[in-house]
Amino acid sequence: MFDDSIIKKLQDITGPEFASNKPEDLYIYGIDPGASLPRKVDFVVMPKTVEEVQNIVKLANKKKIPIVPMGGGLTLSGLTLPVKGGIVMDLKRMDRILEINEKSRYALIEPGVTTGQLKAYLEQHHPDLENSMPDAPPSVTIAGNALIHGSGYLSQKYGDHGQMINGLEVVLPNGELCKLGSCAVSEFWFARGPIPDMIGLFISSFGTLGIITKLSYKLYPKPKLRTCVFGLAKDPNAVPELLHGVTELDIIEDVLLGIQDKPEWMKGYITLITYITGNDQAEIDEKIKILKKVYRKRGARYMKVPDRYYDIFLEKPQFAAKAADFRKGGGFEYVGAMLPLEKIPQIISKGYEISNNHGIIPTMGARIIGKAHNIMFFISYSFNRADPDDIANARQALHETNVEVLKLGGVPWKPELEAQKMIMNKMDPNYLKLFSSIRKLLDPNGIMNPGNWEVEN
Ligand SMILES: Cc1cc2nc3c(=O)[nH]c(=O)nc-3n(C[C@H](O)[C@H](O)[C@H](O)COP(=O)(O)OP(=O)(O)OC[C@H]3O[C@@H](n4cnc5c(N)ncnc54)[C@H](O)[C@@H]3O)c2cc1C
Repeated sequence: MFDDSIIKKLQDITGPEFASNKPEDLYIYGIDPGASLPRKVDFVVMPKTVEEVQNIVKLANKKKIPIVPMGGGLTLSGLTLPVKGGIVMDLKRMDRILEINEKSRYALIEPGVTTGQLKAYLEQHHPDLENSMPDAPPSVTIAGNALIHGSGYLSQKYGDHGQMINGLEVVLPNGELCKLGSCAVSEFWFARGPIPDMIGLFISSFGTLGIITKLSYKLYPKPKLRTCVFGLAKDPNAVPELLHGVTELDIIEDVLLGIQDKPEWMKGYITLITYITGNDQAEIDEKIKILKKVYRKRGARYMKVPDRYYDIFLEKPQFAAKAADFRKGGGFEYVGAMLPLEKIPQIISKGYEISNNHGIIPTMGARIIGKAHNIMFFISYSFNRADPDDIANARQALHETNVEVLKLGGVPWKPELEAQKMIMNKMDPNYLKLFSSIRKLLDPNGIMNPGNWEVEN
């Protein structure tokens, strides 16, 4: 459907080995590790420089070819599958850490830098600093994660990862390069203001407004010691007050909930995992004492776990990312529901109901974002990738979960196409109108990830 000259032109831009239309190269870009169905990809390109990105976008504009930017491609909700074919722009070769500003505490990076790469780099060269990381495989990109309102182990303290963006360099849909944040005025990428803050437009818009080619990401002082304290609660109705109590304390780094029927010891309980940090053991011991009191007062009891579990839970990313069985056919996808704290009891009950109705072992959890301002509650559904009926079963469970999340006043996070439509159906029509107008203005030819956040697709 695209004329034969396109691949030659793309290869002229990137070099012959970094642009392809061969089925064996495209295959992996048309499938998703979650439950989404495969999609057609016409070209894959792997640019190395900003100029190459600009030239590809200009060519795509001239020929009206859709482009989907991609980092690690691991959102699990099919966000890098092209809805209308065209080019997948794999940004992994743009992987330079350009600057670490120790004083203003930020990293200036290219879009292909992964969470594991930045962590390893800081450990080696700047051991007093750290970046917040999701519990996703370490091959996911900082940009891909921050650009979808991701969250990680510093999110309770400092907010979601979108809030950790200080500045962006963007290739706009017409190929022009634009800087956003203090970097538009200064050589320092230290803040989003004090000028009109347009960075937010690029978060959770799924590559529909441009391609990020540089990103300034906040770093934080790294505490010397870190440990976790387990609690068990029985009654879901006690959870909101419990989390309120825990996050009232100024001593908490991260708070996670685990609600699952496997392993056996977790069944029937809500497991609370709270992380605390300190400069010496005396400080840690004092904080544990305070935390245990809050657990007791708010309906949970402290749980002593075998020492070997501590190592597993203290890893960054946590063990779950490594347990994900991508290669051997094991699949899973979750609805990440951004919810107000008070709706936790209801979502737990719905999670059990939907999982049991679909014959899937109930597996739920939550991460608390910013003093309980927001809860990322996930309900995860596993399936056998080799069994289409099993995948369809998981897709139906995901759909029913999205329905319930919206009914409860929550918003599905990193929504796949169908959930995007459900959100848009409930959205203030003028919000949608405003977003569509901005999009049309920036991208009159509709080349940037068409189909996403569109009423018709
Ligand atoms: C086991 C497991 C655990 C997970 N745990 C967490 C967790 O704890 N916290 C969490 O937040 N997530 C988690 N995730 C979800 C997901 O993996 C991450 O959010 C991941 O960081 C997404 O990054 P990515 O590089 O794969 O993004 P991609 O999937 O490549 O991209 C995400 C979106 O951003 C767009 N995009 C990517 N790069 C650019 C760019 N340069 N310019 C413009 N648009 C761009 C894409 O088009 C897409 O819409 C988990 C996933 C798994 C599999």
